[in-house]
Amino acid sequence: MNPEEKLTIAIIDDAIHTETPHGRTMKRIIQKLEESGLVVGDVGSLTDARAAAAQLPGIDCILINWDLGGDSQQNHESTTKIIHEIRRRNDELPIFLLAEPASQAPSGLTVEIIKEINEYVYAMDDTPDFLAGRITAAARRYREQMLSPFFSELIKFSRDFEYSWHTPGHAGGTAFRKTPVGRAFHTFFGEQLFRSDLSISVDELGSLLDHSGPIGKAEKYAAKVFGADKTYFVTNGTSTANKIVFFGAVTEGDVVLVDRNCHKSAEHALTMTHSVPVYLIPSRNRYGIIGPIHPDQLTPDAISKKVQACPFTKYADSDHPVHAIITNSTYDGLCYHAARVEHLLGQTVDRIHFDEAWYGYARFNPLYRDRFAMRNGAKDSNGPTVFATQSTHKLLAALSQASMVHVRNGRVPIEHSRFNEGFMMHTSTSPLYTIIASLDVSAKMMDGPSGKILTDECIEEAIRFRRTMARINREIGHRETPSDWWFGMWQPDAVTDPKSGKRISFTDAPLEILRDNPSCWVLHPGENWHGFEGLEDDYCMLDPIKVTILTPGVADDGRLEPFGIPAALVVKFLDTRGIINEKSGDYSILFLFSVGITKGKWGTLITELFEFKRLYDENTLLEEIFPDLIESYPDRYSGMTLPELAEEMHAFKRDHRMLETLSQAFSLLPEPVITFADAYKRLVRGTVEQVPVEKMGGRVVATGVVPYPPGIPLLLPGERAGDQNGPILEYLKGLQDFDSRFPGFNHDTHGVEVVNGQYLVSCIKEE
Ligand SMILES: *Cc1c(COP(=O)(O)O)cnc(C)c1O
Repeated sequence: MNPEEKLTIAIIDDAIHTETPHGRTMKRIIQKLEESGLVVGDVGSLTDARAAAAQLPGIDCILINWDLGGDSQQNHESTTKIIHEIRRRNDELPIFLLAEPASQAPSGLTVEIIKEINEYVYAMDDTPDFLAGRITAAARRYREQMLSPFFSELIKFSRDFEYSWHTPGHAGGTAFRKTPVGRAFHTFFGEQLFRSDLSISVDELGSLLDHSGPIGKAEKYAAKVFGADKTYFVTNGTSTANKIVFFGAVTEGDVVLVDRNCHKSAEHALTMTHSVPVYLIPSRNRYGIIGPIHPDQLTPDAISKKVQACPFTKYADSDHPVHAIITNSTYDGLCYHAARVEHLLGQTVDRIHFDEAWYGYARFNPLYRDRFAMRNGAKDSNGPTVFATQSTHKLLAALSQASMVHVRNGRVPIEHSRFNEGFMMHTSTSPLYTIIASLDVSAKMMDGPSGKILTDECIEEAIRFRRTMARINREIGHRETPSDWWFGMWQPDAVTDPKSGKRISFTDAPLEILRDNPSCWVLHPGENWHGFEGLEDDYCMLDPIKVTILTPGVADDGRLEPFGIPAALVVKFLDTRGIINEKSGDYSILFLFSVGITKGKWGTLITELFEFKRLYDENTLLEEIFPDLIESYPDRYSGMTLPELAEEMHAFKRDHRMLETLSQAFSLLPEPVITFADAYKRLVRGTVEQVPVEKMGGRVVATGVVPYPPGIPLLLPGERAGDQNGPILEYLKGLQDFDSRFPGFNHDTHGVEVVNGQYLVSCIKEE
């Protein structure tokens, strides 16, 4: 609802249009409301009312007739249900219950219902003027408190904004309107964006750098909603949020425990703070999916051995690690039992930083209990201080770059004034208020009952999709004839019903069981589907909303089967149909069911997967599927069919042992030779050179090398690339060969420059 929109009242009453005293009174109330500029919508029947209960976000006050459908017990029960449904979705929306006639005590009205409504109205006892006034006042109050702290102030000031002599120089959008392109820009985004782009010029809105005024109030409110002692809004993504935490918690000479599966921003933070990384190595499974760091790496003993083995601790002031950073959930949707991780790591470090860039919603659904940082009841003044950095924009509703740092203080608390120095080093003095407002709105959206409703919706849709895919596979995935194949799902084949203790196949499991029981999603030791070994039970859970589809080709033991369809082909096909996935592996494709999901949106995905299957089974020419590919590389692909290309690609991966090399490349830590900061220093001074991958044996890289997928660093700055025939360079060489063999299906590897098909990596010049 646009806050500038008129107040909207919904009336659920089938007696409005009757020629009764009640009907006539209601008509006059509606007339009064409309005269005062409100919008009134009326819903005439019980069935419509149920539909309307799902359309609440645009309504400021609801009037509902208690005798909807007639004065009977059954009807009262239906009305009660509707009221409960409205309340379940929105605990603040004013509900007025209409009764008629006044002389008679309303029948069937329970205390339970009286508690849920705001006012009980005898329409004929008061004047229509008076009642319209009460309704308007309730709607207005609701509209005002419905807004979040910063957003509501921003609205006020953008209304008042008239003639400005300060920045931003576009002055409420006026500057844009002076040239054609500026005008097009202005028209495209609409006036409101520009009028509300006030930035630091309006004192009354407070300051992000000082956390004062409405901005400070919004941060406090977000802290309450997200369960933190303190929350900092960040307008440059979790890339910056991570750096802020590092700047506030570690400095030169400090040892930091770093998840090797960390985001590039953690590497940058290590470079900038000159701290010393000691790595925690995540596990990998047969699909190349990155799993959790095993708990046996997190014990004080194991950590102390790692620190001793790290050659860089000679640069450290103390060999006692001060900070740890863990990615939770992982990119493939695996969530740690955060309480367990804290217990283990907390014996060594005083501060634990969970990078929850993909996981800001966890607190709002009981499915994730114990598996995220800002948990209720986790506060422990003897425990470690815990940070969570969340890209609010990634899975909640916020604008790109909107991120938050949450802090829960433990035995070494964060002192705000010191921490804020690091915050300010990374924050613009002219932050975009639109981003701040979106953070504030996002917090409000998750507050109260809507947090659970919104997350339930994502989880339910994901489960429906997962079950449908598994059912299709049960029908047609037997591989008895060539066209008997379907896509697999990376999920359990069966789950245990917690009530009866019985095993039920995933395809038959009721939605509620899958939605409400974390144990259905836990990677239990000994279960084959997940492919991770040596796990502790309950330590790691697959998040149902991060959905991995498996393309045919990988056997249960991780070897490539004779029949296979590399994911790249499916991804490219879906792309032509306007379906964009989050990321893909050799034989896996990840889809996210975020808060933006709509019911049944996944139906289109299944339709397109069927379409891919049809094109494959009918041996369709690539010309018909990827005309662009043929246009760009006619010599390479003309006359080829989809199965032919799939087979050639699959055979390439098998012959080059791509999955095995990948696995080996990631299972050993490369030798660190110089620090990140030292490597960066040489990069700036230019004492580096581009080296072809075939000549990189023994060389030390100046920048990190991160193949996507899996997106975790193969090499970090200052590390030695290993032998020319070693797994790291073999793997990079394999990627390069794949790219030249299959033009149009190039890999994306950060840190690699591709010149005429040649992979080049920036290495330190040898003296
Ligand atoms: C995306 C991501 C980041 C960076 O977040 P942005 O909001 O894009 O800056 C940090 N950590 C992880 C794990 C991420 O996936």
